[in-house]
Amino acid sequence: MGITREAKKCRQCGREIYFDGICVSCQAENERNEILALTKDEIAVKIRQICDEITNNGELGEEDLFRKLLNYRDIDTSKIAEAAFGQEVFYPCELYKDAPDDVVKAMIEMVMQDDIEPDLAGNLLLCLAAHGGEDVLRAFLELERQPRKWRKQLYADPSFYAVYGGWSYDENGAFIKTIFDKCYPMVKGTLDEKKYSPVKIGTKTDETCPECGCRIVNLMEIDGRDSRLDFLGINGVIKAKCCPNCIEYSDGVFCRYTEDGESEIMNGEDNSVTEDCFKEEGIEELTSNSYVLGDSPVPLRYAADWEGGSSVGGFAFWIQDCEMKHCPECGKPMKYLAQIQWDTVLEGMEGNAYIEICKDCRIIAILHQQT
Ligand SMILES: [Zn+2]
Ligand SMILES: [Zn+2]
Ligand SMILES: [Zn+2]
Repeated sequence: MGITREAKKCRQCGREIYFDGICVSCQAENERNEILALTKDEIAVKIRQICDEITNNGELGEEDLFRKLLNYRDIDTSKIAEAAFGQEVFYPCELYKDAPDDVVKAMIEMVMQDDIEPDLAGNLLLCLAAHGGEDVLRAFLELERQPRKWRKQLYADPSFYAVYGGWSYDENGAFIKTIFDKCYPMVKGTLDEKKYSPVKIGTKTDETCPECGCRIVNLMEIDGRDSRLDFLGINGVIKAKCCPNCIEYSDGVFCRYTEDGESEIMNGEDNSVTEDCFKEEGIEELTSNSYVLGDSPVPLRYAADWEGGSSVGGFAFWIQDCEMKHCPECGKPMKYLAQIQWDTVLEGMEGNAYIEICKDCRIIAILHQQT
């Protein structure tokens, strides 16, 4: 694949790229399709290979393969967890998603000690978070109330690590789920199909941003009355409204919603953005995409990777740290609702937008991350 200066066309989808071959998103799609085509027996062979490699080399050589099997096929990781624990391999934490009870118990015993390396403690917290469960919750609460020596070297409490597993707890120690337990991808449709899609990315409003003058958009509209979206427990239409220009430079913005599709942006901090980089053309491009909600649910981590696309529910792909906002009203951790991969709807825009929700207070948070 030679790098050349003039624009070429992706041999698969025709989009403009600067090398001979196929574009990054087509490559990701092809790799995904390969994994989706594997039979049960083929998957079992690959799992055995991963286990053998960990046992023989003391490390997870094919992290990429493991992640794809996990994301697209939601493989049972119990055997892999056993092999990994035997070699003290604690990365990536998802190795331990289905870890057997004795492995979980042994990891809890390790992390309860005062004199382990802070890095190891951090990894153990993540691995335990990926597994979750009552024993892990109890251990995290104890570690939060009676921090061990290693805590000083970590920059966050155990609750920060818990959200990587899709859960957390409030100040009373009550368990809180920070993800929804189903995931739907956004897929390419037609503009006509988009009219009837219960989830739309990018719709216009009549408002303009008081900070920068850019047009305000509903970054996502969700009609929870569609039966596919029963898992959200939303009985109407909600809109995640923001200034798409300012969101890129903020730590996240909040809006108050009703289930009748009314949303109001809450006062955020001044972010001193004065130039509207979107202009009407950008708004036009963002709002004219033809993505629609997929027909069938996919595994929870389906979109949790580079080129994961946009999705509703499940796990996000955090480009930086996993960032669950606390609701400005009740103070509890919010719940991750959706992600939008910017460059699928706006050419040249990097990163992802993330939408989080507190249904108790009817508040939505929207945040942006990029490399
Ligand atoms: Zn392509
Ligand atoms: Zn703005
Ligand atoms: Zn709240």
